[in-house]
Amino acid sequence: MQRKELLHSTLKEYFGYEKFRPLQEKIISSILDGNDNLVIMPTGGGKSVCFQLPALIFEGVTLVISPLIALMKDQVDGMNANGIPAAYLNSSQSDEENQQIIENLKSGSIKLLYLAPESLALFEMIHQVAKIDLIAIDEAHCISSWGHDFRPAYTQLNFLKKRLPNTPVVALTATADKATREDIIQQLGLINADRHIASFDRPNISLEVRSAQDRITQIVKFIKERPTSSGIIYCLSRKATEQVAARLSKNGFKAEAYHAGLKHEERARIQEDFIYDKSQIICATIAFGMGIDKSNVRWVIHYNLPKNMEGYYQEIGRAGRDGVTSETLLFYSYADVIQLQKFAQNSGNKEVQLSKLERMQQYTEALSCRRKILLSYFGEFVEKDCGNCDVCNNPPEFFDGTVIAQKILSGIFRLKEIEPIGTLVDFLRGSQNAAIYEKGYQTLKTYGVAKEIAWRDLQQYIIQLINLGYCEIAFHENNALKFSELAKKVLFENEKVRLTKVAPIASSKKEKVTKAKKSTTDLFERLRSLRLKIAQEQNIPAYLVFNDASLKEMERVRPMTDEDFLAIDGVGRKKFEDFGYDFIKEIIAFQKEKTLTKTKKVKKTKGDSILETLKLYQQGLSTEEISIQRRLNITTIQSHILKLYKEKHPISLRDFVNDKELTLIQQAKDELNAPKSLRPYFDYFEEELSYDTIKFGLAILEDA
Ligand code: ADP
Repeated sequence: MQRKELLHSTLKEYFGYEKFRPLQEKIISSILDGNDNLVIMPTGGGKSVCFQLPALIFEGVTLVISPLIALMKDQVDGMNANGIPAAYLNSSQSDEENQQIIENLKSGSIKLLYLAPESLALFEMIHQVAKIDLIAIDEAHCISSWGHDFRPAYTQLNFLKKRLPNTPVVALTATADKATREDIIQQLGLINADRHIASFDRPNISLEVRSAQDRITQIVKFIKERPTSSGIIYCLSRKATEQVAARLSKNGFKAEAYHAGLKHEERARIQEDFIYDKSQIICATIAFGMGIDKSNVRWVIHYNLPKNMEGYYQEIGRAGRDGVTSETLLFYSYADVIQLQKFAQNSGNKEVQLSKLERMQQYTEALSCRRKILLSYFGEFVEKDCGNCDVCNNPPEFFDGTVIAQKILSGIFRLKEIEPIGTLVDFLRGSQNAAIYEKGYQTLKTYGVAKEIAWRDLQQYIIQLINLGYCEIAFHENNALKFSELAKKVLFENEKVRLTKVAPIASSKKEKVTKAKKSTTDLFERLRSLRLKIAQEQNIPAYLVFNDASLKEMERVRPMTDEDFLAIDGVGRKKFEDFGYDFIKEIIAFQKEKTLTKTKKVKKTKGDSILETLKLYQQGLSTEEISIQRRLNITTIQSHILKLYKEKHPISLRDFVNDKELTLIQQAKDELNAPKSLRPYFDYFEEELSYDTIKFGLAILEDA
C-alpha cells in the first residue's frame, strides 16, 4: 500500500477521522522517515495523533514521556477505546499489573508505552525487552526553565538521544515562545529536527471581555443559559475559587473549587469528577488544567484578569478541543490590574512582568478585533477580522468626550492628585458619603459636575483617559491619580478627546446565546445521555465514547445504517463495533417518535433495518438470502444478527460457527490473553477466519 493510503486508512480505522488536520500528515511522514521532529501546536490542535499513528505503523514500541501520572490512565483509556494497544508504567499500579505490562512488551502486544520522566530508571529494562522505534516527549516545554511549567525531572531526558541516536524523537508542546523552543532543541539534542509550527488560531472559540461589575450575577445567568455544558472558571486566589463555587452551588449548579491548597486526593477526585462529567463546573486557580484532555469543555470564564497573554491563551485553549463552537469570557476590573501590578512590582523580573501585564490590559481594552491582537502577540498576522469576538460583533461607538475629559481632569486637580479612582468618581458625581464629607470635598469646585453620568460609566471613562495617557496611577501612593503632561492640552488648549461609549453589561451576547440554545436539539441531548450511560458502565470519561463533534455530526446526519454511521468523523472500527448499534438504535427511535408525533402513523424508515433483518431471519432465510433480498452487504446483515442476539432475540449463532471453528477461537482467546479488539484474532488466524465468524464465536463463548 502506498504510504499516503496507509496513513489515511489507519487514521480512519483507529481514530475514525476522514482527514488529517493541518501539519499532522507532514509530521507523521517525517517521523516515519526516521527524522527527529519538534511540533508546536496549540492546545486542541491534534498533537496526539502525530505520534500515536506512527506508533501503530512501527513494528516496535513507542515510548511516550508525559508529565502527569494522574492523567496517563485517561490517555491510555482513550487509546484502548479506539482499539490501540497502549499501557503505562507507574508507581500507582500494583507490581502484578506492571509485571503484566512488561510481559506484554516482551510479546510485542503493546504499541505505546507511557512513562513519567521520574520513572526513567525503567528505561534500560524496557530497552532490553522491547524494540523502541519512536520516543515522543509530550509537554516538552517542561524541560525548559524559560517555560512556565518547568519540571526538573525533564532535564534527564537529554540522555535519550545519546542512548538511542538512531531512534526518532518527537517533542511536542503548545508553548510558542522562541526561547523555550530553542531550549527544547538544545537540551534534547534535536539539532537537525524538522520543525513544525502550526497556526495558533482556534476559530471555534469565541472571545469576549466584560466589565467585572456584578460578575457573579452575570456568571449565574451565563450558566443558566447553558445548563448542560461543562466549563472552567479561573480565579486569581484560592479564596475566590471557594467563594465562587459556593455561590454557584447555592444556585443549584454542580460546581467545585480546585486549588493547590487542597489535599492531593481531594484534587484528584475533583478533577476526575469533572472529566467524567459528574460535576459541571470547576472554579480553579491556574493550578488546574495542564494535560487535561477533556475535549468537551464548552466554556472558560476568567473571573479575574490573567497576568499575561500566554497564560490567558493556554487557559481559554482548554475550551473546545473537539473543534465544536465554544465560548470564553473574561471579566475585567481595574482592581485586578492594580493587584497584579503589585505582584509584579515585588517579583524578580519586574519589568518583563509589568510589560506582559500591560499587553494583557491592552487586549481587554481593545477597540478592534481581539483575535487579531491575540494572534499578533504570538507573531501571527491575519488580515481579516474574526467575526467571533465581542468587538467584531459589537464595534465600539466613539463620541466627542472632551467635556467629560475636562471634568475628570479638573477633578483630579481639585483633589490635589492624592485620591484613587473610586473617590474621584464619588466626588464628580456629588456623592454624600462619609469619605467625601470628612475631607470636606463637598465644598470644592467641580464637586458633582458629572452627576448625570452613571458610576460605572464614569469609572470606565477615567480608565480610558489613563489608557490614552492623560493621567496615570501612582501605585506607591495609595493608587492616587496623577496628571500627565498631555492633560494640560485638554485643560488649557482645548484638545479634543475621543471616548468610546460604555457597553451595557452583558448585552453583547444576546444574539449568540439564542443561537447556541437553538443549536442543541432533543436528539443531541438523547445522544449525550446515551453516551453518559455507556461511559458510566465502562468507567471511562464520556468524551472518550464519542466526542461532542461526533455527536453533533450524528445529530445533523442522523445515520441509520452501519455504512452511514461509519462515515461519521470520529467513528473508527473499534468504536463502531462497541457502540455503533446503540447509537443507531437511539437515532432510529428518535426518528420514529418524531414521525409518530408528526403523522400519528409509523412510517417505514431505513431505521427499521435491523428489525427487517429479524423478520426475514424468522422466516428461515439464510444471511446470504437476506442480503440479496435486502440488497445489503452480507457483513451488515451479520452485524444485525449479532446485535439481535445480544439483545436477546431468539437467534441461533451456532448456525454460523461450526465446532472446529469454535474450538480454534477458544484456543486463540487463551493464547492471546483475551484481547479486547478483534484484530489480534484476525492476525492469529492469518485471515483464514472472517471477522464475523470470530465475532459470532466470541459471543457464543462469552455466554457459554
Ligand atoms: P492536543 O494534544 O494538541 O491538545 P489532541 O491530540 O488532544 O490535541 O486533539 C484534540 C482533539 O482533536 C481530540 O478530540 C482529537 O480526537 C481531535 N482530532 C485530532 N486529530 C483530528 C483529525 N484529523 N480530525 C478530527 N479531529 C481530530
